[in-house]
Amino acid sequence: MRAHIALGSNVGDRQGNIRSAIEKMQSVSGVRVTKISLVYETQPVGGPPQGMYLNAVVEVECGLSAAELLKQLQCIENELGRTRPGKDFPRTIDLDILLFGDEVIDEPDLKVPHPRMHERAFVLDPLAEIAPDAVHPVLGKTVAELRQTLCRAGPGKSA
Ligand code: ATP
Ligand code: CA
Ligand code: CA
Repeated sequence: MRAHIALGSNVGDRQGNIRSAIEKMQSVSGVRVTKISLVYETQPVGGPPQGMYLNAVVEVECGLSAAELLKQLQCIENELGRTRPGKDFPRTIDLDILLFGDEVIDEPDLKVPHPRMHERAFVLDPLAEIAPDAVHPVLGKTVAELRQTLCRAGPGKSA
């Protein structure tokens, strides 16, 4: 299955955290990283005041189930020192499954497509770079279309 994963980091060596997470993904058996977006610097959304994020998206060819993939991603987050003091707090690394082929999953611990992906420029910009034609299986729109209709917060506006 082709899957897309978002990476974000705003603590420590942000670039190094993104790079290490991709290397670790690559070494998970059953996962092959096939595309890597550029790294984008973005404003934090929500949570306490905190530093700017680096965000990227990768495409993987995945022989695991989505639940197995999530487990592997959570292991990588832990290895890179992710702590969870509260929602939207700063983090060394955040790994979210955005799309998992055309699967739609609605379980307490795993929702795919990621329920907020279509509202987030920091997800859609790098995703559109590597997978503009991927189709959101619930909204029925391509990533490029979702990105075009995104409401972007300008200076002085709240998101
Ligand atoms: P957001 O989901 O709004 O981006 P977050 O990434 O900061 O917030 P976390 O604290 O990293 O949230 O994750 C909370 C829980 O989200 C995880 O324990 C995981 O079980 C669940 N989750 C549900 N769907 C997904 C998904 N598609 N990818 C990653 N985690 C998910
Ligand atoms: Ca997230
Ligand atoms: Ca997450």
